Amino acid sequence: MPVVRARPEAEGCRACLRAGPAISGAGVASAGRSPHPGGTTLPCVDVCVVVRYRKAVTYGVHALLAALEVSGAECDLRLGTTPEETAAHIAASEADRVLVLWSFYSPDADAMAAELATVRALADDERVLHLAGGVHATAEPQHVIDSGWDMAAIGEGESTIIALVAALREGTPLTSVPGLALRDDDGVAVRTGPARQLPLDAFPSFPNRRRHFGPIEITRGCRYTCRFCQTPFMFGGRFRHRSVASVREHVRWMAEHGLRDVRFITPTSLSYGSQGPDPALDAVEELLAAVKEELPPHGRVFFGSFPSEVRPEHVTPEAMRLLKRYVANDNIIIGAQSGSDEILAAAGRGHGVQPVRDAVRIAVEHGFRPNVDFIFGMPGESARDQEASLKLAAELADLGARIHTHTFMPLPGTPWRDAEPAFIPLSTMRELDRLAQRGDAYGHWRKQAEHAVRLAETAKAYPRRARRRRTGG
Ligand code: SF4
Repeated sequence: MPVVRARPEAEGCRACLRAGPAISGAGVASAGRSPHPGGTTLPCVDVCVVVRYRKAVTYGVHALLAALEVSGAECDLRLGTTPEETAAHIAASEADRVLVLWSFYSPDADAMAAELATVRALADDERVLHLAGGVHATAEPQHVIDSGWDMAAIGEGESTIIALVAALREGTPLTSVPGLALRDDDGVAVRTGPARQLPLDAFPSFPNRRRHFGPIEITRGCRYTCRFCQTPFMFGGRFRHRSVASVREHVRWMAEHGLRDVRFITPTSLSYGSQGPDPALDAVEELLAAVKEELPPHGRVFFGSFPSEVRPEHVTPEAMRLLKRYVANDNIIIGAQSGSDEILAAAGRGHGVQPVRDAVRIAVEHGFRPNVDFIFGMPGESARDQEASLKLAAELADLGARIHTHTFMPLPGTPWRDAEPAFIPLSTMRELDRLAQRGDAYGHWRKQAEHAVRLAETAKAYPRRARRRRTGG
């Protein structure tokens, strides 16, 4: 049964006790508030932020919550762990505006659109704005607007969410908020100005006061140009590293709350402190030593393992000896992706097959079990290329590695968004199953093959750069 709550015409603003005007919808118009008597624009609108809180996207959501926390943006904040709980928070809120935040990856876009419809059916009124953020919304704002969201957040969300809450409170036009795509009267996604990419120290990785702890993001953006990867598109083509002082502060917060395990978010662990292709091992050591210093004696540091990985050419004896001195993980994740030099070159990986072999051998020699990522079905991959990947996977498994198998997905925002996935024959599938049955491989490659089909359909329905407009705001 939908809960439809219209805001009474004569309802006063709780912040300034002044009768407030009805607020228009999400569109390109202002949030609809007239200035206070005397022409001032003091805040007078209550804002409630409801987050559709899912395990798959907690890191990104925690970064937004942290940004709101340190900015001092005044808003009531609630987390909905299911569509029903999300709707219940919306219905229960008495705020003048309810901003509902959604974040998802491209393969989940359709499932999230179905959830959005459920939430709207359960609780909806003119106070509510649904905002989609994350990499899919950034790459395909028109798709998310057509799928039912009122707005899309483009790029990194921290400064956008702070500005958006402020605009809703103060009644300034949403066109003035950077990093949004708003639906105009024709249903077209119209972009506001771009949000700035700030240094990583500008905001914490997670909200300390709300005690949502997690891995510390030490590096954002990536200088490499792998054609299947959304990271450089979303976060820029250079590394932004968090300072050691900022990392120390995060570890202190965690230790104060009795947490003893520290993990990191980074596109390539051993690139910490470096701007180029070579690791800056002094910077890595400074980081790891600082984290150890802040932790209690029984504290543990996990580096180069989930949720991050290392590039194969960075796995050297020197680097492994350094990790052994500091880390608690017994495994490291190495991105190999293919056993074909031609495919690695076409994918823009910046390394060949031999560094992968060397990395696995060196890691094993230094007591790490390598988990090695492979992607099958990359564009242009021939039967011979797939055979080379399967042969390399078996060889690495014999050395002691576990193979993490993926299927190529044409992800929005990447150079290979419109590329045709290579055919994966039954024989390759059987071989992957055989490796998995032996305990040498794991992964969701079958599910990803289904996602790939849907992503290709969306890409065809939304030709690149179609119907893109920018507001004058
Ligand atoms: S796959 Fe890894 S190294 Fe390549 S662009 Fe993405 S994050 Fe960077």
